[in-house]
Amino acid sequence: MIQQLEKLAKKIDQVGDSLGVKLCYEIPIEIIYQRKKYPIFVYSIGTQKPSAPVLFITGGIHGLEKIGAQLAWSFLKTTIDKLNWDQSLRFIFKNIRLVVIPLVNPVGYSYQMRSNGNGVDLMRNSPIVARDKVPFLLGGHAFSKKLPWYQGRENQMEMENLALKEIFLKETKKSNCVISLDFHSGFGMKDRIWFPFSYKKEPFDHLPELYSLISLFESSHPYHVYQIEPQSKSYMINGDMWDFLFIKLKEINAASVYLPLTLEMGSWAWVKKNPLQLLMRDGVFNPIKEHRLKRTYRRHHLLFDFFLKSLQSYEHWTKQSLILREKSKRLALEKWY
Ligand SMILES: [Zn+2]
Repeated sequence: MIQQLEKLAKKIDQVGDSLGVKLCYEIPIEIIYQRKKYPIFVYSIGTQKPSAPVLFITGGIHGLEKIGAQLAWSFLKTTIDKLNWDQSLRFIFKNIRLVVIPLVNPVGYSYQMRSNGNGVDLMRNSPIVARDKVPFLLGGHAFSKKLPWYQGRENQMEMENLALKEIFLKETKKSNCVISLDFHSGFGMKDRIWFPFSYKKEPFDHLPELYSLISLFESSHPYHVYQIEPQSKSYMINGDMWDFLFIKLKEINAASVYLPLTLEMGSWAWVKKNPLQLLMRDGVFNPIKEHRLKRTYRRHHLLFDFFLKSLQSYEHWTKQSLILREKSKRLALEKWY
């Protein structure tokens, strides 16, 4: 995967701004593990205007869930390829920015581990403490790095998460509207889209805007495959990074609309079709057969396309009168809580 990401970076160097759209990448940090360097690549496409809406995509936070990093890479690659000919996409990127960190945890990916090189589960590692009861171990714990879901030392965020925080806030601190989409796999038969919070059951501040956006999605794509719900309905955790970044962004940019979403791909469906996968270390989390991997790449492009377009038209669903907002909130509570 790291070679594939290097290739994309080279490609960006070659085409430069010739596509009429700003393309850039950076490596804010290299993680050192067993004396080897593992870069974290960050790619940005589109306008660099600070107030522009941002789609922020991340994969590979859990290294073993390889499909997340592969899906982020695939989306990024096709987007860059499409810019060669697709005028409408070029137009969209004049107004919005796409930021992708395809592989947040390169050491975990390389060694087929859920955690990073220090044995820390990066999605349990922020300073957020759950307000309601979390499942034993799975909800994040401080017992030992030898057990899965270890949250690390108290108040010590790992390098990967510090890089994620820095990049995220740099890209979004002045943005009017932000959607983040973080790719995971390993839970359930269905593809789920989760929204906050993970640390408490109460709804998050932008539930009305989320409801409006999802209503648009459901009317444009009535046969979509996703189960959309608050993460707290499945399980709750300590140290969720997106809960943390939501609070941080709202502290510095209270006026923005921010929807932190997680795409949790229902990997049990892959296992059901190919039970032999259970014998493989990464089999529970990834589509192993080539055709199933390709199908996964295909499956979510509709959703990405919708997010790009909806950010281009963000005012349509974010600027609601007080009365409409109240109505959206009431309908959302009825639908999801
Ligand atoms: Zn995960």
